[in-house]
Amino acid sequence: MPSTNHNYRHLFVGLDTPVPLYDGTQQPYINLDNAASTPPLRNVQAAVDAFLPYYSSVHRGTGFKSRLSTHAYEAARRAVLRFVNADPAAHTCIFGKNTTEAINKLAHRFPFTDKRDVVLTSGMEHHSNDLPWRNRGKTVHVGLTQDGHLDEADLDRQLGHYAGRVALVAISGASNVTGYLNPIHHLARKAHAAGAQILVDCAQLPPHRRVDMRPLDDPEHLDFLAISAHKMYAPFGTGALVGRREVFAQGDPDMQGGGTVEIVTLDDVVWAGPPDRDEAGSPNTVGAVALAAAIAQLENIGMEAVAAHEAELTAYALQRLQAIPDIHIYGDRDPQRAAQRLGVIPLQVSGVSHFKVAAILGNEFGIGVRSGCFCAHPYILHLLGLSPEDSQQVRERMLAGDKRQMPGLIRASFGLYNTLEEVDALAEPLERIIRGDFRGHYQQEVASGEYHLSDWQPPFEQYFSWETTLLPSFQAGDD
Ligand code: PMP
Repeated sequence: MPSTNHNYRHLFVGLDTPVPLYDGTQQPYINLDNAASTPPLRNVQAAVDAFLPYYSSVHRGTGFKSRLSTHAYEAARRAVLRFVNADPAAHTCIFGKNTTEAINKLAHRFPFTDKRDVVLTSGMEHHSNDLPWRNRGKTVHVGLTQDGHLDEADLDRQLGHYAGRVALVAISGASNVTGYLNPIHHLARKAHAAGAQILVDCAQLPPHRRVDMRPLDDPEHLDFLAISAHKMYAPFGTGALVGRREVFAQGDPDMQGGGTVEIVTLDDVVWAGPPDRDEAGSPNTVGAVALAAAIAQLENIGMEAVAAHEAELTAYALQRLQAIPDIHIYGDRDPQRAAQRLGVIPLQVSGVSHFKVAAILGNEFGIGVRSGCFCAHPYILHLLGLSPEDSQQVRERMLAGDKRQMPGLIRASFGLYNTLEEVDALAEPLERIIRGDFRGHYQQEVASGEYHLSDWQPPFEQYFSWETTLLPSFQAGDD
């Protein structure tokens, strides 16, 4: 049996919780979908439990619990700024729901000066760092190399072509499809030299790597970044936009209401300074506390140790999976380079739909992976090498309500707690699926393309139901 030097499983909630399988047995769930969301850290759960008895309104409350809640919320903000090495005098941290909301906020708040302003994003972006920019000035997608890396020569070309007009370079720190890491500081230098600013979509970065915004007088500094706590082992509905304070000290907030103002009269409003101007309504204090607890744990483990453990998993997985005939891994396949990318492995099983592989892994082996296009349709089509004609055909079939042939991949993505045994636990079922050695009869749904068993549904009610969340004293008959 292989084993890594480090095992972090005791730090997490629920890893040994059994889940039901199609054959009537149960086994602990194997979560290989960490690029989507991660399970909570135990200290996150403990921090939330410790905080809830004191939870109260933040900011203008004057009682002890309100003041404690405000204190905890603002401490969480400072923890985020410190974690990404931001300068509180130069940067502000605006809490919101997630990376998507953070990028949408920046898209509305970025001080574009001209309709001709250009945003350079890329063909490898998650939709959340692409769609918000469309129609905010001119959005240009920097091209990719054949193996799916950002084509820096094309970035240079676009910066030259749109010289003087590029306001922002909006780029992912790491891809949620291939795990590629972009050279963000090197790109920042290029953006700044062209008179632009840079946003890094950091949804995938801080759970795996140290993030450093660097001082604003460093030509390689980052101007803005966006993060999601649910990808950082703190799934309590919080994310953050960290960015240049002066940008958020000007202009009207995109969301307006309580908390965003200094003074309001019936015909005038004076907006509050950052970050209040951009945090309309009552904030998610519990989420902020949870995120700060996760940060404390990641810092305690050390991001170098986090990266080293994941590199070990990734190298083993690349080796193990590509030794299986009929598995095709996309992106970089070289185990020697595992430390230079994230543990996100996109693959395909020859001749079996990605939807079907994912369904069998879930129903029969208790393994959670993701299948499809991972909110990055253009990138997946690029990796699959689909011609414009093929893409057009796919589009027409999908628009006609038939997703059975929808292109896509299977994605296995690692978190800090995954083990080499879990890599084997993925590889063996994949070998069995290739041999046709699985039990269920699967039917494909036309509208979604997904595969379902006709004779089994997981018994969700036995595992979680609303009744079990009610304390006995609140059950029927109590008044
Ligand atoms: N960008 C990237 C690279 C992502 O992986 C994700 C989530 N998969 C997002 C943005 C969006 O994050 P969220 O759903 O938390 O808003």
